[in-house]
Amino acid sequence: MNKKSLTNGLSGLTLGRLRFYESIGSTNDEALAWAAEGAPDLSIVVADEQTQGRGRLNRKWFTPKGTALAFSLILRPSATLRPHLARTVGLAALSITDSLLNPGLTTQIKWPNDILLNGKKVAGILIETVWSGEDVDSLVIGIGINVTKDAVPPADLLKFPATSIEEEFKQSVTREILMHGILESFIKRLPQIGSDEMIQAWEEKLAFRGQQVQALEGSDGILAGELMGLASDGSLQLRNENGNLVIVRFGDVSLRPAA
Ligand code: ADP
Repeated sequence: MNKKSLTNGLSGLTLGRLRFYESIGSTNDEALAWAAEGAPDLSIVVADEQTQGRGRLNRKWFTPKGTALAFSLILRPSATLRPHLARTVGLAALSITDSLLNPGLTTQIKWPNDILLNGKKVAGILIETVWSGEDVDSLVIGIGINVTKDAVPPADLLKFPATSIEEEFKQSVTREILMHGILESFIKRLPQIGSDEMIQAWEEKLAFRGQQVQALEGSDGILAGELMGLASDGSLQLRNENGNLVIVRFGDVSLRPAA
């Protein structure tokens, strides 16, 4: 992967500008700085390797050289998007599941920010915000996808099982083609972000739907119940043992099947 192969691979899409790095700390850090300097809408930072890749709360996200797709997309909210910013993570997740459709494989969203292939984590999303006073200036949508087997961290470093596209597809995929698919789908879905259909599509892809789950909220404890679906802002709805609906809001939440 290099700047030329990316430019060729992404041709035909209406994007902003592109920055490619052989190696970088974190594509989100670079995109946050670039967005603050006024990067055009839909500009992208791509790297072949991240040395300081981040998950939520600065947890480490592994991106060894040449094994993964790691990029950050800068989104400048339009007036239509602004009321629905909380849904952006769902839109990004659906764009990834769209591009990983493969007969015989299950592709699901582990709310709020992970993609599962055959029940194992294959990709993660990290959305960060550039503020202008109290308004959102732009969002940075960071996406990391394990493409080859070597992208997957050793099992003892993981809280949730992980896999790669190569392992599940039983064949390799080209990162440029994968990225084209994700961005094409994202751009196509963006005008519908406020629709009921978007929430339905997101719900249909949720892992553990109808099953008992635990939502671990940082150090604040556990919410448990049957995973019912989503509220209109993309919050998760569980039905607890008393039959009441409980809302799990975005935040440092990790979802697990009930023990
Ligand atoms: P959570 O596990 O709660 O979803 P994050 O979304 O913050 O946490 O993701 C970071 C976590 O993901 C890390 O703590 C690590 O356990 C795991 N991880 C790191 N790199 C990868 C990777 N390339 N593939 C799968 N899981 C990873």
